[in-house]
Amino acid sequence: MNDPKWYSQHVVKAIEIVGVACGHGARDRNCEFGPDVLRAADLLERLRARRFAAYWCDTIRPGTAGATNLEIVTQVCGQLAQRVEAIVRRGDFPLVLGGDHSCAIGTWKGVAQAHRGQGPIGLIWIDAHMDAHTPQTSPTGALHGMPLACLLGYGDEALIRIGNGIRLEPRQVCLIGVRSFESDEAELLARLGVRTYHMEEVTRRGLKAVLRDALAIVQDGTAGFGVSIDLDALDPSNAPAVSTPVAGGISQSTLLSALPQLAGHPALLGAEIVEYNPSRDVHATTARLITDVVDTLVSGRDCVQSPVQIESRYGAHHYDPLPVVLVRGEGACLWDEHGRRYIDMISAYSAVSHGHCHPRLTRVLSEQARTLAVTSRVYYNNSLPPFLQRLCELTGQDLALPLNTGLEAVEAALKAARKWGQKVKGIPENQAEIIACEGNFHGRSIAILAMSSEPQYRDGFGPFPPGFKRIAYGDADALTRAITANTAAFLVEPIQGEGGMIVPPAGYLGRCAEICRRNNVLLICDEVQTGLGRTGRMLACEHDGVHPDGVILGKALGGGLLPVSAFVARREVMEVFTPGDHGSTFGGNPLAAAVGLEALNILIEEKLPQRAAELGDYLAAQLRTLKSPLIRELRGRGLLIGVEIDTTRVSARAACERLIDHGILTKDAHGTVLRLAPPLVITREQIDEAMRGIRAAFAELERTIRHAA
Ligand code: PMP
Repeated sequence: MNDPKWYSQHVVKAIEIVGVACGHGARDRNCEFGPDVLRAADLLERLRARRFAAYWCDTIRPGTAGATNLEIVTQVCGQLAQRVEAIVRRGDFPLVLGGDHSCAIGTWKGVAQAHRGQGPIGLIWIDAHMDAHTPQTSPTGALHGMPLACLLGYGDEALIRIGNGIRLEPRQVCLIGVRSFESDEAELLARLGVRTYHMEEVTRRGLKAVLRDALAIVQDGTAGFGVSIDLDALDPSNAPAVSTPVAGGISQSTLLSALPQLAGHPALLGAEIVEYNPSRDVHATTARLITDVVDTLVSGRDCVQSPVQIESRYGAHHYDPLPVVLVRGEGACLWDEHGRRYIDMISAYSAVSHGHCHPRLTRVLSEQARTLAVTSRVYYNNSLPPFLQRLCELTGQDLALPLNTGLEAVEAALKAARKWGQKVKGIPENQAEIIACEGNFHGRSIAILAMSSEPQYRDGFGPFPPGFKRIAYGDADALTRAITANTAAFLVEPIQGEGGMIVPPAGYLGRCAEICRRNNVLLICDEVQTGLGRTGRMLACEHDGVHPDGVILGKALGGGLLPVSAFVARREVMEVFTPGDHGSTFGGNPLAAAVGLEALNILIEEKLPQRAAELGDYLAAQLRTLKSPLIRELRGRGLLIGVEIDTTRVSARAACERLIDHGILTKDAHGTVLRLAPPLVITREQIDEAMRGIRAAFAELERTIRHAA
C-alpha cells in the first residue's frame, strides 16, 4: 500500500459535504434551513447512484444564543475553515452548502490554509452581487454583503483573523454575473484589481467564454482555485428560492452547459453553493437545480467510489489485499475491473482447483439451487447420500462427516480424536492430548490456534484450551518422543502450505504412520490444501503409501463455488459420534452436496490429479530455468509449488505486486515464499504464458535491485 502508483490508481478522493445551517449574515434567515432540506432531498443518493464517493461530513450550526450576528458568523466561519482545511488535507474534495454567503469566509480561508506553502488560491465568484462591502460602506450591515471584501483583507477584524488571517490575492479572483452593487464595492474591487464580469458582459460574450477567461486568471500562479456560487446569480425564474433575487440573471441551462469546464478540472480545489432559501422553494425547483449543479461540478472528478474504497471504509481491516479488483473468472484466468486478464496462480489457496466457474459445476449449482438448497440435517435429503458415498470411495475411508469450511472439519477431527482417545483408547477424562507440528496451519478458531506456532495468529486471542502439543515438522523421532499414554492423535499436513510450502523429508509421513500405529495414536492428515489432486494424487499422503485414520478435506471439495468440507475417517474413529454430539446447520446441505459430488466426479473424469502431476513437473522445470539470484529455493509437489525469495533483496510481497503488472496473480506465504498453485485445469500454454510474465517480472526486479545497489 506504500507504493505511490497504487495510491494514484486506487485511492480516489471523496466528496465531503459540509452544510452551514446559518443565516445570520442575511436579513431573512431562512437560508439557514437550506442544508437540512438538501440533505433530506436526494442529493447524496444521487451522487452515490452515480458511484461517487460522497459523504455528509458535518452540518455546522450557530452555537451561542444571544450573541451578535457578527459573533455568530465569526464562530461559524472559524469552525467551517477548520473543517474544510481538514477535508482538503485528507485529499478529499470539499463541497460547502450554505447558509448565507458569509460562510464563504470560512470555506475559502480553510482551503487557502490547507494549501499554504503550495501557493495562493484563486477564486471564481459567481454572484448577482459583489459582496464586497465593509461595515463602513454597507447600507444594511448584513454580513452576507461582505465576504469577498473580507477574504481580500477588508472589513471586520474578527472575520479577517479567521484562518490565521490568510488572504486571497485580488488579481487571482474573478467575479461573474454581477448586476446589483453599490459604488463603494465596485470601487474597492476595481482598485484591488479583481476582474469583474458584469452580467451584460456575460450575456454578450456567453458564460462559457467568460468562464474560460476566468479560469486562466484564477490558475495563474496559484495552487488551484475554488468556485463559489451564489444562487442569486441565476435568473429568479429558474432559481426562485434565494434570499435576494435579482432579475435578469444567468439561465439554468447556460450555467449547466458552462460548468462542465470546471468539472473534473484538476486544479478545482473545492466548491460552494449558497443562499438557498427553502421557504421559497415551493416546487423544489431550486433544490433540483442545486443537485444538477453539484452533479455537473463533480462529474469527471476522480471521486468515483471504487470497490477498494468502499471495502476499506466499511470492511473490517483483517486483510491487506493486493491491488487488483477482480470481476470475472473462467478456468485459470481472472479479469479485473478494467478488463485486464490475469493467470490465476493461487486459485484461492487451492479452493479453485477445478478452475473458475467450471460449466459443469455452475450447471449443477444452479439446477440444485432451483430444486432444493438447504434443509438442515433434521431430515434426509436425496443429494447428500451419493456425495458421502463418493467421498468414502475416493479417500478409502469408511464414514464421512460433511461440514462447510476447513476449520470446521479440523474441529470435527479434533473432537473425534479426543472422544476416541477417551472412549476407545481409554485415556482418562479430560486428559487426551493431540500433537501438532511447528509451522502448522489448520485454521483460526480458538481451539485450533491453541496448536499454532505463529505469534501473530495468537496475539491477543488467548486463553487457549489445553491438551495440545507441538513438535518439529519433518522430524519423526520428535513424534516418538512426544507421544505419551494420553496421546490421542497426531495431526499433520502432508505439505505445510500456509507455513511456506514446506515439504517434509522423504518417508516422513510413512514413519509417522508407523509410529502412530505402534502407539495406538490416530494419524489425522489435514489435506484441506494438499488434497483432491493438488499434489498429483487424490490425497497427498498417497505419495507415501499412507492410509491415515482420518482425513480432513475442504477447499476444492466445493468446486470453487461453495464452502464444502468434510472429515472422513475409519469406522472406529467416526463412530464415537452419536446423534447430537456434533452438527452444523449448513453442513451437508443438498446444494453443497450436489456441488461436492460433481466436484469429485470432475476430478476423476478430467484426471485432475494426473494433470497436477504432469503440469507440476513442467512448471517446476520451467521455474528452475529462471536461475534468478532473487530465488533461494524451489520446492513443492504437483501444482503446489513454493518459490522462496531472498528477502534480503526483495520482499515476496513486492514480487507479488510486480507479478501483477505482468498479468500473474499469486500471494506470498509469510512474506518469504511465493506460492504457485494454479487451478489444476490450467493448460500448458497458460503455464508458458505465466512463465513469460514471471520471467519478465523477475528480470525487472533484478534490474531495480541492481540500480538500487
Ligand atoms: N487446514 C489447512 C491445511 C489449510 O490450508 C486451511 C486454509 N488455508 C485450513 C485448514 C482452514 O480452512 P478454512 O479457511 O476453510 O477454514
